[in-house]
Amino acid sequence: MALVNENYLKLPGSYLFAEIARRVNKFKEEHPDADIIRLGIGDVTQPLAPASIEAMHQAVDEMAKAETFRGYGPEQGYAFLIQQIIEHDYAARGITIAEDEVFISDGSKCDVGNIQEIFGLENKVAITDPVYPVYLDTNVMAGRTGNIVDGMFEGVTYMPCTAENGFVPSFPSERVDLIYLCSPNNPTGTTLSKDQLKAWVAYAKENDSIILFDSAYEAYITEEDVPRSIYEVEGAREVAIEFRSFSKNAGFTGTRCAYTVVPKELMGKTKDGQEVSLNRLWNRRQTTKFNGTPYITQRGAAAIYTEEGKKQVQAMVGYYMENAKIIREGLAEAGLTFYGGVNAPYIWLKTPNNMDSWSFFDKLLNEAHIVGTPGAGFGPSGEGYFRLTAFGNKENTIKAVERIKTRLSL
Ligand code: PLP
Repeated sequence: MALVNENYLKLPGSYLFAEIARRVNKFKEEHPDADIIRLGIGDVTQPLAPASIEAMHQAVDEMAKAETFRGYGPEQGYAFLIQQIIEHDYAARGITIAEDEVFISDGSKCDVGNIQEIFGLENKVAITDPVYPVYLDTNVMAGRTGNIVDGMFEGVTYMPCTAENGFVPSFPSERVDLIYLCSPNNPTGTTLSKDQLKAWVAYAKENDSIILFDSAYEAYITEEDVPRSIYEVEGAREVAIEFRSFSKNAGFTGTRCAYTVVPKELMGKTKDGQEVSLNRLWNRRQTTKFNGTPYITQRGAAAIYTEEGKKQVQAMVGYYMENAKIIREGLAEAGLTFYGGVNAPYIWLKTPNNMDSWSFFDKLLNEAHIVGTPGAGFGPSGEGYFRLTAFGNKENTIKAVERIKTRLSL
């Protein structure tokens, strides 16, 4: 019988969303008429921008004719999309990125999950806590950690992010090789300022570490001082890989398109001290294991950089941020403490009266018929917090906030 990768067995089951579903189903059985509002989802709800739809229709028509049909495309993505990314996401902000440093993919989840493959198993990994679970779980699967003890994997450096430190991770006390940072953050909705990011880049340089910077939510940044790209910090090209996605800015959660930037200055080394280009390794990984994002999808993504597309995408982000504002104002009126929601579609609520996050889940469901996400599901430091998202529709968001203000006993 074939042996399995036993590292997978170290992972607890996907407890969070299964447990949410179980509790919601039980509640529905007991209260069949309850009008439940979901403010827990991380998925978008608004349709794709018309510019993307139009571009994809045209691309479908191209596929219908032999002269314009496309088969396998470049694994790294089509130049028409890469050039738009470079021009609008980077050059416009004074950042120079070369075409062969951008890798188009079918999602940031895959990229942030797969990136660890190009690094040795001996590397020490640091993650913020709470965290988007993919960073940690993929390192567990690869065998870069020990077992889980009291909710934490042995061999991983957890960097708690709580109200006490303003959700800014402190530098690890012991040297680490790989550091996952996410700004704007899922789940806390908080960000790292330019100075904070500068300090992280300096730390990475001093310690020969690599920063894996996830900016899937950069489109939601409204404040001036918050970098949209880690490459806004001088020297970051030598220490950071950046992940971006079309999921949350342009509604591509189901359509699937993202990209990863691996600068050519970025080096790792072999055990005998030889320097190796990480761009070369990622290119090798992608060309071996990935056959490119569909042409139709890439046309849809490129369309968001047209004048029309930009306006439509901005309107979409604005729609969700209006929801975020409604939630923030409602929570403030209800006397609750919360963070985020200014540069991110996530609002991170401090549970009242030191309630644990699952008890607050039950309370919100029972009293207000609202589903959110318990903070404990994102890591030990998420205990005592609760995530609400602005991705619902406006009508339901307003209704939910009214219920929080009027029905929740605090
Ligand atoms: N990174 C973070 C922090 C996320 O929250 C998500 C999705 O929720 C992703 C990446 C994945 O994005 P994609 O849809 O491109 O796979």
